This record gives sequence, C-alpha cells and structure tokens, in this order.
Amino acid sequence: MLDAPETILSHHALLDLYDCDNRALLDDLEGIRDLFHRTARGLKCTIVNELFHRFTPQGVSGVVVIAESHLSVHTWPELGYAAIDLYTCGDPALIDLMPDMLVEALGAGRKEYHKLPRGHVDRPPDFRHQDRIRLSMKGLSDDQKWLTDQWADQILWTIAVDNIVLDVQSEYQRIQVVDTPHLGRILVLDGNIQCAETDEAGYHEMIVHTGLCRIGASSPRGGRKVLVIGGGDGGAAREALRHPDVVQVDLVDIDQAVIDACRDYMPRVWHHPDRTRKIEDDPRFSIHIRDGLEYLKERGAMAEADKYDLIVVDGSDPVGPGVALYTPAFYQAVYDALKDGGATCVQGGSFWYLPEVFTTVYTGLSDIFEHVAPFECFTAVYPGGVWNLQLGIKGPFDPDAVDDARVQKLGALHWYSTGRHRAAFSLPPIAERLLQKVPPPLEEVQEQLEKVSLTES
Ligand code: SAM
Repeated sequence: MLDAPETILSHHALLDLYDCDNRALLDDLEGIRDLFHRTARGLKCTIVNELFHRFTPQGVSGVVVIAESHLSVHTWPELGYAAIDLYTCGDPALIDLMPDMLVEALGAGRKEYHKLPRGHVDRPPDFRHQDRIRLSMKGLSDDQKWLTDQWADQILWTIAVDNIVLDVQSEYQRIQVVDTPHLGRILVLDGNIQCAETDEAGYHEMIVHTGLCRIGASSPRGGRKVLVIGGGDGGAAREALRHPDVVQVDLVDIDQAVIDACRDYMPRVWHHPDRTRKIEDDPRFSIHIRDGLEYLKERGAMAEADKYDLIVVDGSDPVGPGVALYTPAFYQAVYDALKDGGATCVQGGSFWYLPEVFTTVYTGLSDIFEHVAPFECFTAVYPGGVWNLQLGIKGPFDPDAVDDARVQKLGALHWYSTGRHRAAFSLPPIAERLLQKVPPPLEEVQEQLEKVSLTES
C-alpha cells in the first residue's frame, strides 16, 4: 500500500479590522448580509445557508454557511471594529483575496490577518487512479465514489463523486444530490441525472429563451405569462424571470421534495437571475405542487388574458410520474392554456440516444400544434451532450426570426444567443428523416426506459 501522503484538509483565516470609518454599514443588517454574500461568491464559494442578527442597541453577527464550510462576522460599530473568520476546504489562494475585499468595503484603517492550516490528515491514495473500479449499472457505486447513468442499453456514463449531499426517497422518486469534482453538484432522480450546476444553462436557457425571443411570440400589453411544468430544479423558472416583460411565472411540480432539495442544496441552479434576492421573494414567481395535467385541468377553460405565452414542459423522461407529460390529453391541455401565438417548449428526447422519445414527442405535438420545431440544446450530463427540445407553436414560426433586441436585454447568458437560436433549429438530415417515421406507442417507450431506470417496478 502506498504511504498515504499527509494533506492539509482546510484553512482558517482570521481577519480583524480596526478603525472602520463605514460605521453605518457595521450596524446595517441588510448591508452586512449583502456584503458577506458578495464576498462568499467573490471567493467562488457555494452558499448553502445563512443567519444574520442585529443586536440592540448595536452590532451585527452573521454566518454564511458555504459548501466549503463558513464565513462569519461580528461587528462593534461603536468601536469601528469587525471580527471576521473564513473556514474553508476550498482553494487556499482564493482566501487571501478576502482581506482587501472587506478592508475596502468597511473602510478599515488597520487590519490583522492570520491564516492557519487545519486538518493534517493521511488521505488514502486518490482512488481515482485505481486501475479497477466497481460500478453499478445505474446510480451510485457501492463505495459511493462513482455515479453512473445508463444512456441506453449497455452504454454507461460515469462520473467521480466527492460526497453525497442528499439521498432521500420522496412519495414519487428517489432524490439524490451529489458533489462531483468536475461538474459541481448534480441532481439525480431515480438514478437518472437531471442537471449539473456547471452545465445546466445550456439546457435551461434554450428551453425558455427560444420560445420567448422568437419574433411573433405573443407579447401582450399586460406582460407575458410563463408556466413551467416539472422543472423542480428552478432553472427554467429562473430563466423566465430574466425577461423584464414577464409578469408571471408559475412553477408546477408534482414533488415538493425536489423543490426543497434544489432550494437547499443546488443554490447555483435554484437562484434568482439577478442574485440580489431569493427567487421565492420575486412576486412574479409562484410554486404549485401538482401533477402538471391535473393543474391544467383544474385551471379549466381560461380567459384569453389568463392564458400563457410560453409553457415549458421540463419533466423527467416518460418514466414514473413523468409519463403523464407525454400524452395527447396533456398536449391538448397545454395547447388550450396557451394564447394565440404562444408556444410550448418540451424536453424532447434525443434523435441519437432516445429516438423513441424524440419521435413520440414530435408526433404527439404535431397532432395538436400548428407548427412543431425540434432543436438542439447542450448539457454535458445528457447522453452525447447534444439533447433535443421541441417547440410547439400556436401559429407560424421562422427559426431565423429572432428578436435580437430582446436577447441583448437578457444580460450575460452562458449558452443562448441569437446565433445559437438560429443554429439550433437546423437539424441534421438523419434527424429529419427520423421524424418522418411513425414512433412506437408511448407504452413501449415507457417499458424500454423503465428497464434502465431505478423506478421501483
Ligand atoms: N431537465 C430534466 C430532464 O430533462 O429530465 C428534468 C428536470 S426536473 C427536476 C424534472 C421534474 O419533473 C421533477 O422535479 C419531477 O418531480 C417533475 N415531474 C415529473 N412528473 C411530473 C408531473 N406529472 N407533473 C409535474 N411535475 C412532474
């Protein structure tokens, strides 16, 4: 056995700031909270929780709990003094950026800074360089160091796992959140990878902005309304809230436990687009725990003004609770809930790795919508990286007609752009030919997927 090298697990930085001339800020709960959130983000930490308190007659104490450990502050406004400590297993070089950030913000005249190494441990040889690993065909390996998704029968995709952040069974599905060194936090439902925090924008930006940025998208005076069915990770809702003229975003997910998991453990997906507030604090945003089809049935015949401009169907694959979101009754209910000129954008399988879902969705939508346009998006964690979404439009559609002025208003995106919008709808001939074929019945698709999913049979 190799001698296990000694490693330093973490560092504790202690920062004392004296003669702070910004005494008002030292006594301002919201101001200190905002400063410490920005500092944590500036140090590339992942915020998972926080608690701030203001004392009478003065002084603020606060802790930002980060995935890397914690950042805390205690202030004495009357003395112009603040005591700060950052305990982190993150990159030690980043820690040294902290003093300057806070000296400037608090106007400190003098500082004392110490950084202590902590956790001198003998770490076993890095298991990732073993020449043999044991995998499960789906989900976590027995040693919980590898996560495998089954892309198709006998095609596996595996990623190293640092730790399991959450592993619970809800009424509907098994919910896991795992930390990975290469793609950050990953949400897994019944062993199926749903999204990774480092690459989800390629999916969530495309499933929302293609529907809202096309010229011809209805944009009534009263503002636009968006419904997200599924999407419990919050990514699609976040992107819809990015549009200044969107006045209402309803998120309908069957499983509260998924929403709780993402709100608490996936802060780089479940967040407000402008990050200055919680997504839940945006008055335009509301959450409804319902089956998507039931929700639409309960809404019944809607007045035109109450109908939606975009309905995003971001359900899991047609397994478990997700099957309901692939039926003709559901597509009809979606169609009826859309304004004229509105559109639905649905998770539409893959012409390469899930051709059955790709053709079933296309045919199902085409039976009801005037125009259906499949297109490509990207996520590293979906089979092959290229995945398909499908736009069903209540009216005409020109993939090149993009409202570029609207795109520019969306700020710094990661994946969606006017050029990507146009390119995404240009499918390869192999995919176009596939769409001419008659798809297998949904039951057959469901059977195939259940074989490779962890849903309880
Ligand atoms: N982007 C992912 C994909 O392409 O597979 C989907 C992610 S999102 C987390 C999937 C969500 O759909 C889950 O939160 C699940 O609870 C929800 N869901 C599944 N079936 C549903 C239904 N019938 N009605 C509403 N939500 C549903």
